[in-house]
Amino acid sequence: MNNLGKRQPLGIQRVYIFYALSYLGFKFEAFKTARFGYEKLQNLKIPSAWQDDIDLATLKVRAKPFSDKEGFAVICNRCMNTNALINQAGDLCTSCGHPFVRNFTGFDTLPLVEFVPRAEIPPKKVMEFLKMDPPEEGNGFQPQKNAKKQGRGGLDGWQQENRDEQTMQFGQNDDLENDLFTNRMLEWLESQVNPDQYKPVEVDERILKSMRFEEIFIVDYSQLCPQWPKKYYKNMVPDVAITNCDKCCKFFLQDEYEFAYMEKGCCPFCKHVEKDKGVKNVYGSLADMNHR
Ligand SMILES: [Zn+2]
Ligand SMILES: [Zn+2]
Repeated sequence: MNNLGKRQPLGIQRVYIFYALSYLGFKFEAFKTARFGYEKLQNLKIPSAWQDDIDLATLKVRAKPFSDKEGFAVICNRCMNTNALINQAGDLCTSCGHPFVRNFTGFDTLPLVEFVPRAEIPPKKVMEFLKMDPPEEGNGFQPQKNAKKQGRGGLDGWQQENRDEQTMQFGQNDDLENDLFTNRMLEWLESQVNPDQYKPVEVDERILKSMRFEEIFIVDYSQLCPQWPKKYYKNMVPDVAITNCDKCCKFFLQDEYEFAYMEKGCCPFCKHVEKDKGVKNVYGSLADMNHR
């Protein structure tokens, strides 16, 4: 819907799209969205049999609050901005411009944030750095600077200082790895003035080394179009298992993808059959166990 713009999708009438949007929007109490749909319908040629129903529904929706019911908003994983369901500028965050990455079975958004390695790092090195971090509680990670000097001795992030003072050391006990990336992401956000200037978070060697390879998705779009560059994504909520089809480059929630794959015997979007499906499964579950 957000990507529709002025395009006329092949074989689908816009009237049907907006009617479905407004009808369901009203039903689910997403009144703002429903009102948007009905307003759009006013500019289209509606089948005469529908006219009275639509006129009545348009009136009805105007009597409702101009907002969507809670829980329908789309939260951006990059800047945490709450977005309305409809954004006519495209399927992206209205605050930072980060494109939403959707699960292609349920079309809900996935907690992925795009990043790019610095241009001077050759792609081969990027892979090397990303794979470098052994995910054993971050112990294998040796920061060049003394970021780890506080140690990991404190319980629950609380550290007893010499006097009767307690200070909260955020992130010392959590994943140090994630902190480096998150800090960089926040820095990056501050440098961006408006959503039109969206650029993926740029990360340096140190951050690349600190990231967990299981949380990274490298999508090679060049197989779809030779000019398209590779894109890098980081899963910000590692508990949400995400998978990506090598062929169509679409993202899916892992379990939904597995179910669809079992049912159809292929990728639910492009019908691609993975050769090493069995092997990959085993690897995936082991990797999951390691970082819990
Ligand atoms: Zn955002
Ligand atoms: Zn596919």
